Amino acid sequence: MKKGKKLYEGKAKIIFASADKNQVIQHFKDDATAFNNLKKANIEGKGILNNRISEHILSALKDAGIENHLIKRLNMREQLIDLVDIIPIEFVVRNIVTGSLTKRLGIEDGTKLNNPLIEFCYKNDELGDPLIAREHIYAFEWASVIELDYITEQCLRINDFLQGMFKGVGIKLVDFKLEFGKRKSDGKIILADEISPDTCRLWDANTDKKLDKDRFRKDLGDVVEAYQEVARRLGILHEQINNVRPIKFLKPTAVKIKKK
Ligand code: UDP
Repeated sequence: MKKGKKLYEGKAKIIFASADKNQVIQHFKDDATAFNNLKKANIEGKGILNNRISEHILSALKDAGIENHLIKRLNMREQLIDLVDIIPIEFVVRNIVTGSLTKRLGIEDGTKLNNPLIEFCYKNDELGDPLIAREHIYAFEWASVIELDYITEQCLRINDFLQGMFKGVGIKLVDFKLEFGKRKSDGKIILADEISPDTCRLWDANTDKKLDKDRFRKDLGDVVEAYQEVARRLGILHEQINNVRPIKFLKPTAVKIKKK
């Protein structure tokens, strides 16, 4: 697969052109950021793990009838995906209260929700991805009523599927973030971006040990080891991705956490 020019570089991924104008190559970097870019590190091996974990999850979702942008994995760090126009909303699905929700509403960390909760955040780093209401999505025409109904229904289906997938390997799916886009080739709304320990909160079912990016956010250590544990439990850790060195911090910064 011939890689074309770089089209976009985000915090954890780079998008390159491919030979087909409706398809692009998604490259997973080892870079990690948190707290709106205030905390940065290079976590050796993370990109490889996220590429494999996301491929595994998106393939399983496709098999279950949930369309998404994955066409195929190309190598250790790259996958071929459908080009989409991303809808500028982060769809956060929660099963257990933690993270920003505990701070925002003062609900006790670890509280189980009777029904999954879907939140909408406007994708804008400068504004810190603010929480928005359905009405903002309609008012600014980021999605129509029909489109948003379809996306929220997909979010719930994905949540059901992933909860089962992780439960089977002794992991609680606490919460996660999804992105959707309109496929360039036919305009259909499909799941895009990635699903990995960077975008989900995953707790060991017995011990509540964090197996996700919170290990980086909260300086808990063993970040790659936790991602490897997720990959191992999902049965996909066959390739040579051991021998990773400890986290290299780009800049040892004092992290100021802005209250949301
Ligand atoms: N999340 C993400 N990207 C973001 C914000 C959140 O992938 O830009 C994920 C995060 O990993 C977690 C879920 O969405 O699984 C809910 O995140 P929360 O709002 O609690 O974010 P916090 O501010 O605590 O990171």
